[in-house]
Amino acid sequence: MGRHRRDAGSGVGRVGPALRHLGDRRKSRPQGLIWRSVMAYDETNVFARILKGEIPCRKVHEDEHILAFHDINPQAPVHVLVIPKGAYTDWDDFAQRASEAEIARFIRGVAHVGRLLGVDEPGYRVMSNKGVNGGQEVPHLHVHLFAGRKLGRMVPAESV
Ligand code: AMP
Repeated sequence: MGRHRRDAGSGVGRVGPALRHLGDRRKSRPQGLIWRSVMAYDETNVFARILKGEIPCRKVHEDEHILAFHDINPQAPVHVLVIPKGAYTDWDDFAQRASEAEIARFIRGVAHVGRLLGVDEPGYRVMSNKGVNGGQEVPHLHVHLFAGRKLGRMVPAESV
């Protein structure tokens, strides 16, 4: 289909190799940043289990640093989740503790997945929920990549 679609397989499969970043989270704490206590990382959350190969996923892309897979409950014709392999609870935890290289690899990885899916044109939306008000359900950093139609309003229409 799209020019980049060839690598974006959607078969159900287990992820490998073993996730060496999990359990090694403090080693990546950058120097010079204020680090405050964040919610402890739950090693049993569903995305950690996918990374460990305990739960299957419909994989779109995997490399040493990120995994992308189809959301189990899609909200758009294309709804893919992209996660770092490091043990980060959310966007804020990632921003505070990840190295510059990890952050760059993640951002570039998300864009790479958009191109793999062939949705970089006419475009897509990337979104990350953080915390209760953000509606975060799974406490491992993930971004949602939505595409396949015009996506409309950014948030549901309610009084501001
Ligand atoms: P959030 O509310 O931002 O934490 O989003 C979590 C997302 O993970 C939801 O869109 C769920 O549908 C999705 N999800 C939960 N479990 C799985 C799973 N096993 N495989 C794929 N997606 C999942």
